[in-house]
Amino acid sequence: MEQLSINCTSGESTLLIGEKFANLNGYLPNEKVFIVTDSNIALHYLVNFPQFPVYIIEPGEASKTVIVYSKICRWLLDEGADRSSFLLGIGGGVVCDLTGFVASTFMRGIEFGFVATSLLAQVDASVGGKNGVNLDGFKNIIGTFSQPKFVLCDPEMLGALPREELINGFAEIVKHALIADVEMFKFLEANFETVKASNSLAIEYLVKRSVEIKTQIVEADERDRGERRKLNLGHTYGHAVEKLTGLPHGQCVSIGLEFTARLSVSKGLLDKRDYMRLMNLLKDLELPVCISLNPIKVIDTIAKDKKKTSNSIDFILMKGIGNVVVEKLSLNELREFVEHK
Ligand SMILES: [Zn+2]
Repeated sequence: MEQLSINCTSGESTLLIGEKFANLNGYLPNEKVFIVTDSNIALHYLVNFPQFPVYIIEPGEASKTVIVYSKICRWLLDEGADRSSFLLGIGGGVVCDLTGFVASTFMRGIEFGFVATSLLAQVDASVGGKNGVNLDGFKNIIGTFSQPKFVLCDPEMLGALPREELINGFAEIVKHALIADVEMFKFLEANFETVKASNSLAIEYLVKRSVEIKTQIVEADERDRGERRKLNLGHTYGHAVEKLTGLPHGQCVSIGLEFTARLSVSKGLLDKRDYMRLMNLLKDLELPVCISLNPIKVIDTIAKDKKKTSNSIDFILMKGIGNVVVEKLSLNELREFVEHK
């Protein structure tokens, strides 16, 4: 087990990587703990939960609403929660986002922690202190920055996941390797079979490195202004694909990484050979690298999102493997690129 701590102005958080779910009690207060989870997790693990009141939401993005948020707040009031209560989220990204938002606003903020049960939540959603809910189809429109006291990541819990969810998490792991760690990239190339079989040691290493990379970036730029944009690698294009197709986040990120790598090659920042290495790795991890979707439509969707601010966007490009640069690109340049490829 490894403990990593993350220090931000919004608080200090301890990441417990490779810790067993069975040891959860050691990190919780003795009383006034309230648990939020979803029905999938409850089905597998409810019998092993600590003995505290539990609120069960429906799994999936549709639960990240103000309505579910207020239902949880009302439930907390009914159960007698107060300022000294502790909220624990056990689940994937949706449970973590929602729990973090409830905890950071209920009675102006109570302490909270997570047991991250999906690979995506372990490597991404649980780290960085961002939380919130969606509004009218817009993601994370209402939210706060607030750090959980702890995030427990038990690789054994990933075994209960549907395979697709595991694959989804790989995209974010590859992203972290591309941003900052060529050795991690090589590890993935050499061990993709072991990783796909969700071998605990391999997963623990990848979660640890992912979290370290993200933590370093987040600590340097908690409020999402400069350095943190690097974490958006593959996401500008990926989010637009997600909006247009409704495909799972990890798959869209993978398609976004392919687009970004191709763009980086055309800008002379990435070797063709490294582009091919990335394509092979994504395919080996069963992630998609192309999609039957008109790229002009994707660029139009990006433009629609950005229009209000300016005609250019900060695009994160790959500079070799393990390094990225931020470049301002005009939307016209992007349009030309997809038209003349
Ligand atoms: Zn993501």
